[in-house]
This record gives sequence, C-alpha cells and structure tokens, in this order.
Amino acid sequence: MSPSTPKAAAKPKSAKSSTSLNPLAPERVSQILKILDQTYPDVRCALHHENAWQLLVATILSAQCTDVRVNVVTPALFKKYPTPASLAKIDPQELEPDIRSTGFFRNKAKSIVGTARKILQEFQGQVPDQMQELLSLPGVARKTANVVLGSWFGRCEGIVVDTHVQRISRRLELTTSNEPSHVEQDLMKIIPQPKWIDFSHQVIHHGRALCTARSPKCANCPLETLCHAADKTWSTVSQNPKAR
Ligand code: SF4
Repeated sequence: MSPSTPKAAAKPKSAKSSTSLNPLAPERVSQILKILDQTYPDVRCALHHENAWQLLVATILSAQCTDVRVNVVTPALFKKYPTPASLAKIDPQELEPDIRSTGFFRNKAKSIVGTARKILQEFQGQVPDQMQELLSLPGVARKTANVVLGSWFGRCEGIVVDTHVQRISRRLELTTSNEPSHVEQDLMKIIPQPKWIDFSHQVIHHGRALCTARSPKCANCPLETLCHAADKTWSTVSQNPKAR
C-alpha cells in the first residue's frame, strides 16, 4: 500500500457528533477489527527469524530501533553466535560492536548475554514458552515476551504494546492510558483473545503505513469514519480533543 498524502480538507458540515459515542461499544470494536482484517490480512512479525532464540534476540534489539535496522544487523550476528551457548560464554563487551547500530547497545549486550546464560543454566538451552519464565530473563518485559509467545509459540497470553499500538489505541479511544501495561490490560478487556496476535501485527503495520505519529494519512485510512482523534489530518466526523 503506498497512498499519497492528501492535502488537509475542511471538515464537512455534516460531520457526526461524537458526544454520544461509546468508543468501547462491542459493535464499534468489532468494526475496527473487521476493517483491520480486511486491510492487513496477512501481516506477520517484521523481524526476520528462524527460531525462538533468534526472535527473542531480535526483539530485544528492536527496542528504540526500527525492525529494518535490526534485520540488517541480525544475519551476521546469528552467524557469529548461532545459539544461546555461543553467547553465554562471551563478555557483553565483546558483543557491543556487533549490535552498536541498533542503539542502547551496552544495555542490549548485557540483556542478550544475560538471557543466553540464564536460558542455558535454567532452561536447558531452550527459550521458555511460558510468560513468567520469559519475564525472568534479563531485559525481557511483557512486550518482548508477548512477541515471542505470539509470533513463535502461537500462544495468545497478551497483546504486544509498542509505540504504534499505544498511539493508535489512544487515537481510536480504545484506551486513555500512556502506560503500556495499562494499555495492554485495556485492550485485553475489549478484544477477543484469539485476535490478540493479529491485532498487534495489524496495528503496527497500520502505524507504519498510514497512522504515523506525525501527519497521519487520514484521508486514505479505512478506519477514518470510526476515528475521532484530535490530531487527524482530515476528518468526516467530529473530533475528540482528548483522543490523542
Ligand atoms: S483516521 Fe487518521 S488518526 Fe485515525 S486511525 Fe486513521 S490514520 Fe490514524
């Protein structure tokens, strides 16, 4: 999808009021999910990986970094250090040059080496497939655990909340929180569990393609009539100053 960015247009006089809108009404949430399914039917995790360990490392590296940049770094990294065992025996400083371009490389090196050691010592060299065990690994919080559980193990235990999911959930008034763990809890209450994995992938894709942080391409957005965000660039419906 490569929509052009239209010029902002005046709001039509027939714009519907949002004063009576219940943003969490089941039929509205269903409509949003249906449109996301239709618009992004085959989206998958954008981080290149061939096993759970590679996905875990790539997700740790993706903090404050684009997936594109991570995908540039990981082929050589996985060739040099193919297993948790190969990383567990090095000093984190040895890893730093290989991941420097992903940013925050000192902390990421400590997390990756620490995670490799713990997986080797406590999980027989295998990435665990349980939330609490994943959360016990250094540098692994719910977002990373949800990515690994959802995209590798196919387990719907939570919803990945990254910067795109947080921003778009607020614009669509599915949450009012700025705290990722609260956003996740809000979303888990209104989105059916079987949709949790797809919803994250679809919204992340939507955030890259149309609902960008600056100048979202609202005139091209299939969710436009359902969205009352304050920072829309074009709108046929009334806007809610608090929805941003
Ligand atoms: S209408 Fe604009 S702000 Fe709303 S979801 Fe679409 S792109 Fe994002």
